[in-house]
Amino acid sequence: MVVLKTAREIDLIRKACIISAEALQLAGEAVKPGVTTYEIDKIAYDYIKKQGAEPNFLHLYGFPATACISINDEVIHGIPSKKRVIKEGDIVSIDLGAKVDGYNGDNAATFAAGNISEAAKRLCDTTEESLYKGIEKAVAGGRIGDIASAVQTHCEERGYGVVREYTGHGVGAKLHEDPSVPNFGTPGRGVRLLPGMVIAIEPMITQGNRAIRQMPDGWTVKTRDGKLAAHFEHTVAITANGPQILTKIR
Ligand code: MG
Repeated sequence: MVVLKTAREIDLIRKACIISAEALQLAGEAVKPGVTTYEIDKIAYDYIKKQGAEPNFLHLYGFPATACISINDEVIHGIPSKKRVIKEGDIVSIDLGAKVDGYNGDNAATFAAGNISEAAKRLCDTTEESLYKGIEKAVAGGRIGDIASAVQTHCEERGYGVVREYTGHGVGAKLHEDPSVPNFGTPGRGVRLLPGMVIAIEPMITQGNRAIRQMPDGWTVKTRDGKLAAHFEHTVAITANGPQILTKIR
């Protein structure tokens, strides 16, 4: 069931989203060769707590940390660790959110550690562009398939794979609400977009084949072919005046 939000509720979600975005920015600025993913997670945790908010990924479905931190061929759900040291040339996807006053925010981005290859940069740029292509289609009267197709087309035209097993989602009093927001689909199909819907759009894009595999830790998802993956996400409100990116701070 899709829960439509009032303007007041959207303002509350925005508050959680701004804390989420600031935590993501701080975490991203800390991505450097020699830093552990544990240290990055701690920066995000401390910032969110300092704002009087709660890290909403922590303990959700049993996840043990504030942020999912996924490096290179890891697509999503990487578990921060003191043993995992970021290296020069890595691409580091950080996904995190905060909950405050009963509402959630959610966002993700892929950051470069030092100098990265041209190919890695192109993958990250294309993934971020596809997020904005999707957001452009988050308009009342449209359909989920419009968003999904915009993301898919942008990435596949450039030779990349679109992960299908994981999707975006509604955001509100719960971090994961209806509807599901896939990154592949057909324009004009799927759930109708209405003012008051708040959704997380989050393309997970692979450099090679889109096939993924789950690691034995029960969380980390990697590309099957070992090629790179990138992940960008915003929480977006659909309003009568068009899409509003709630996790935007710059
Ligand atoms: Mg999400």
